[in-house]
Amino acid sequence: MLGPYGGSAPGCLMTTFLINETTALDAGALTETLSIPRQRSIERIVVTHAHFDHVASLPFLLENVFGRRRPVEIAAPAEVLAPLSEHLFNDAVWPDFTRLPSRRRATARLRAIPEGGTFSAGGVAFLPVRVNHIVPTFGYLVSTARASILFSSDTGPTRALWALADRAENLKAIFLEVSFSNAQEDVARASKHLTPKLVAAELRKTTRDVPVYLYHLKPPSEAAIRREVRALKMPRLKIVEAGEVLEF
Ligand SMILES: [Zn+2]
Ligand SMILES: [Zn+2]
Repeated sequence: MLGPYGGSAPGCLMTTFLINETTALDAGALTETLSIPRQRSIERIVVTHAHFDHVASLPFLLENVFGRRRPVEIAAPAEVLAPLSEHLFNDAVWPDFTRLPSRRRATARLRAIPEGGTFSAGGVAFLPVRVNHIVPTFGYLVSTARASILFSSDTGPTRALWALADRAENLKAIFLEVSFSNAQEDVARASKHLTPKLVAAELRKTTRDVPVYLYHLKPPSEAAIRREVRALKMPRLKIVEAGEVLEF
């Protein structure tokens, strides 16, 4: 867990999971957390959606690995890739690294994952599932031969995620977002996020009783969220911390 926050403040790194040494899920804080040699080892980044707290380090990562022999693959359903091309790597906000140093030897390559299809690389499979957020957003069931882990990405109340949880084989854990405190339910519902109370309601939609790791806290809401999660008295809920290594 490299970045467990859904916003930026001192000590709060934005959403980033390092799945293994070559594969990341989201890129809120890859360049703040990995040394340059470890950044060079990243071969692919799977992206949940185009919001800035999930892609903020992508421009700097591509700059740092510029000149590498094989492009870094940025993988996501086409609806997620389109805004990255249009609004981020557009030669206005940041250079278009899919054409640099040349089209033929580009630093990055966008790879569209067909909806309903799986993206497999490096022994890990990513199955996207559309969740309920204000822009096109996908959670992923991430599977190896041994284990499957479900990542919600940013979402308000959803059914698709829990349907996938119920049919996943070898499901070992769920990483679920929690962004705002219970007092902020209005803003959570408007921006399609969860509060501790909504987390408890979501978990009633699945029969799976695996550990649930909460992440994506908005920094100003952190203290209240931690209090309210404790008050739920659900032993399988845990707020995951930056730098925590979880093996499944
Ligand atoms: Zn977010
Ligand atoms: Zn978002």
